[in-house]
Formats: sequence, C-alpha cells, structure tokens
Amino acid sequence: MKEELLKLRTQIKSKLENLEEEKKDTTRVNEFMYHFLEDVENLENDRVYYEQYELGDFALQEDGESLEPILNTYKENVMKTGLNPASGSHLGYIPGCGLYTSALADYLAAVTDEYASVNFASPGAVRMENTMCRWMADLIGFGPEAYGVLTEGGSAANLMAVVVAREARGIKPRDFEKQVFYLTQQTHHCLYKGIKTAGLLESQFRFIEMNEEYQMKVDQLAEQLKKDKADGYEPFMIIGNAGSTDVGAVDPLNELAQIAEEENVWFHVDGAYGGGFLLVNEMKSIFNGVERADSVVIDPHKGFFLPYGTGALIVKNGSYLLNAFKKEANYMQDTKVAQFDVSPADASFELSRHFRGLRMWMPLRQYGLAVIRDALREKVMLCNYFLSKVSEIDGVEVGNKPHLSVGIFRFFKDDPDSTRLNEEVIKVLHERGRSFLSTTSLKGTFWIRVAVLGFRTHIEHIDQCIEELKYALEKVKSMGSAPV
Ligand SMILES: *Cc1c(COP(=O)(O)O)cnc(C)c1O
Repeated sequence: MKEELLKLRTQIKSKLENLEEEKKDTTRVNEFMYHFLEDVENLENDRVYYEQYELGDFALQEDGESLEPILNTYKENVMKTGLNPASGSHLGYIPGCGLYTSALADYLAAVTDEYASVNFASPGAVRMENTMCRWMADLIGFGPEAYGVLTEGGSAANLMAVVVAREARGIKPRDFEKQVFYLTQQTHHCLYKGIKTAGLLESQFRFIEMNEEYQMKVDQLAEQLKKDKADGYEPFMIIGNAGSTDVGAVDPLNELAQIAEEENVWFHVDGAYGGGFLLVNEMKSIFNGVERADSVVIDPHKGFFLPYGTGALIVKNGSYLLNAFKKEANYMQDTKVAQFDVSPADASFELSRHFRGLRMWMPLRQYGLAVIRDALREKVMLCNYFLSKVSEIDGVEVGNKPHLSVGIFRFFKDDPDSTRLNEEVIKVLHERGRSFLSTTSLKGTFWIRVAVLGFRTHIEHIDQCIEELKYALEKVKSMGSAPV
C-alpha cells in the first residue's frame, strides 16, 4: 500500500501542486487580463454586445490540457458571447463593471482558501465581513443592534429578508393565507421568487398604485391596510423601493415607515440598486426614512462597483436575523470556542461560502471611499447629461427626472407604430454592438432605459451612445414603415 501511495503522491503532486507551472499560469492569466483591460478601456476596440455567436464545447476530459487553449476557449466562447458587463458602454439593466482590486481579492481569498463562515475557523475574515456589514448599517442609519450578512446577490438577500420577517412574526403555515404583502409594480421580481421560496406564495399581494414618478401612493397604501384589517387579513410586510431596477424610483420611505410603525407591519426596503447612493452625502435626503426600515438590501456588486457575487441583507434588530437562521450542529461543536464575533453561518442558510468580505474590503480600503463617492455622483450626472442630450432629438419623449441614475425615453412618440420602431432602433444598436441599452414596458408603453452605474462609464461613453442612437434612428427611418 505504501508503494502505491508514494506513486499516487508523485503523480498527483506533479499536476495539482506544481509551483513552477502555477507561476507560469499566473503570468499567462495576467497577460490575458491586461489585453482585456486595454481593450475594454479603448472605445474603438471595446464591443459591449455580441449578438451572433457560436457556443463551444465545454465537456470535460480524462486528460488535462495546457492553459493556453483553455484561455482561448474562455475568450471565444464566453467573453465574446452576449454582453460585456465590464465595459463602460454597458448602459442596460444595472451594470457595475467589477473593480479590479476586487478580482485580486477573489484570487487571494481563493488561494488562501480562508473559511469565512465560522468565527473559529477565521476570526479575522469574520471580523472583516462583519465590519463591512456594520459599515452598511451605519450608512443606512441603523443603531448598534443591527446585524447583517453578505450574500451572493440581492435576490438571495431579499429572500432571506422574507424569511427573517416570517420568523420574527412567528407566522406558521396555517396563517399564510391571511398574510398581506404591500408592494408596487416596480418591486423587483426576485421578491416574488423569494416569497415563493419562503413558502409564502399563498399570501395576499396588494399592488399599490403609483404616482407619475413610479412611487407608491401612500394614501392608497393606508386605505388598503385599513380595508385588509377590517376584512380579517393580517398586514405582514410593506416593501419599499430604494431605487427600482426598472426606472430607479425611490418610494417615499419615511411615509411608508410611518404607516408600518403605526400598523405594526414589517417594513422592508429593497436598495439592491440604489443603496450604494447612501454614500453620497447630498443624496441622503432621497432615502429619508430608510433608517426606520426593519430590513434593507444593498448590492455591493451594483452601487459599490464590485464584480457579480455580493449582495447584503442588513436587519435593524440583528437578533431577528440570528433567530431566523442559527442552528447548532453536533459536528460543529468545536466552533463554539472564541465566539466573540457572530459567525456569518449563524446569520444565513449557507455554511461554506466564498470569503466575500475580502472582495469588498480590499478595493474600498485601497481606493478609499472618496473616489467611490465621486464615481457615484458622476453616474447621476451622466444619466442627466444623457437625458438632456437625447431630449434634443426630434420626436423623443423623456420620462420623469430620474431619482438616481436610471432614466427612460422613447422615440417616435406620436407614431402609432412607435413600439415596433423603438424595437428596431434597439435592434440596430445591438447589432452594431458598441453601446448597450435595455428596454422596459410601463403601463403597456415601450420605453428604452438608460442605466448608468458602471465605474468605467464616463462622458465619452455617453456621447458615443447618443451618436449610436442617432445612427440607429436614421437607419430605421430610412427603412421606412416596412418591418424588417
Ligand atoms: C438587481 C436587483 C435585485 C436583484 O439582485 P441580484 O443581485 O441581481 O440578485 C433586486 N432588487 C433590485 C431593486 C435590483 O436592482
């Protein structure tokens, strides 16, 4: 047996622990990344959208291969398909771009393989992650009892918020049908998925009407709550938007908080997109009342420009978060030693997970908060600059002044065929692949969205997008009314 083990050792080590090869591979990956970064910062070379693509073969094999063909497969079959979210010309959905130091942090975290879920295993990693959540709790304006956890994204954080509220209220399955959620058509669909996953789909849903700025109408909410109570329902949760994905609307949070407090309803605020703007002092008043929420979601992979993979749930009364998820397991008995910081595993349904704190802490610490704040201010200004430029184009209708950095507009406003014509404009834009915008439908009307949030987006990307739109408009007009 010993001989066999020695043989295996040599074989395995030569492949999985070959430091000389690892050094070469790191250099290869770095070279590859530098090429990418040079391209992505060069408007001429940067493609933000690849509509035509052929997907490669990702099947696994018994024998390995060198990194070169692997990197090539990645480039041709992953990077050159679909969107390029790292590009400053990505102005669709909610972009973020992915700070470079965050990528280096992921690399460090993965090489050292810190176990960041349990205090005993890595008290430093836990303290770092908890410090990031504490920092966000302070931005929100929560007190010292607040506690939070980093998640994979906003969807996971919103799902967990529903579970925390359900447990805090002690709601049992037999009560589900009587529970009422108050939300608007602007509420992100991940909350629907989260509510479904939390088992609460049998509850009642009240979509409260919105004003012309897509904000929940407070008086309608109050009226509906009274009616539901009179009808024997149990108002459970008011969901406020702190920056809806669709149009960037921020609900009147303070007024929603007032009603929630008076009626003893859980107040949840979804700030997955907008929460980052809490960092900008002169914008704080937009979110007035967020500090009165019971739970808040912020996506650092949006407003703090991290690469995809980091959301956060912050709960005002942290004990509710721990009550919802803490569960002791026998094989974890060693971990009770040195519990001076709460373990993220006790505040989440997850146990083993990526060390998310490092990818947030390292860039924010290296770059400093001032430049992040400036970048966020720049995004708001760029969105307004875009809308003022687009408003100069004939036949355009621009939506309400954005609360944050998402705006809406549509061309051919008086044309009965305007939906199809706008769709054509977007089609041409995407075929060209130099700027990317996405679209939405509001009360049955087709709108084009501009969402400025990537840290790489600057004035030249906005100017280019306007030029691309003008080109696309001319092309659509020259095609006449015949559908293509
Ligand atoms: C992006 C977003 C979500 C979903 O978050 P993911 O990180 O994509 O899972 C939820 N709510 C709002 C308002 C968002 O913008």
